[in-house]
Amino acid sequence: LRDPTDFGAAIRTIPDYPKPGILFRDITTLLADPASFSAAVDALVAGHRDDRVDLVAGIEARGFILGGALAHQLSAGFVPIRKKGKLPHDTVRIAYSLEYGVDEMEMHRDAVRPGQRVLLTDDLIATGGTAEGAVRLLRELGAEIVAACFVIDLPDLGGRRKLEAMGVEVRTLVA
Ligand code: 5GP
Repeated sequence: LRDPTDFGAAIRTIPDYPKPGILFRDITTLLADPASFSAAVDALVAGHRDDRVDLVAGIEARGFILGGALAHQLSAGFVPIRKKGKLPHDTVRIAYSLEYGVDEMEMHRDAVRPGQRVLLTDDLIATGGTAEGAVRLLRELGAEIVAACFVIDLPDLGGRRKLEAMGVEVRTLVA
């Protein structure tokens, strides 16, 4: 039986996806394994149970899966950060940089009240462009960001340092 906290063993790597030369880290295998998924959620919330987290903000789409579970564990609410054009009510929007190019993400303008304590989550941090956009959007709404947590860190791409330079505590489970 595999150690459920050996998260690296529960994730698979797909070569040449979505483009030749890219090694895609696929967490669907971790999510499908009950012991691994549960252990990952526990490890991501560890230390935040007494942080009075009001809301977990998840980045579309894999951040929604983790975020729902984290919110339940912390007795917090959940708010989605989505690609533009997907949210039905008034939104705030921000452009963010991807490895190649830019895109825009949105939140509902009333998703966070000023001063609410928010834990940000996504499956993976690479360059940090996506998470940086999310932090800026949350702060525009007046959120106090408690921390940002990710299952996977690709440390060579510098995302963790980028968030830490913005004053955000970062937690990741595997590099
Ligand atoms: P960044 O903006 O930090 O460069 O890229 C992180 C974003 O791209 C996250 O939303 C993440 O889901 C996605 N992403 C980039 N590379 C991978 C990968 O290899 N595996 C997975 N699961 N997501 C990735």
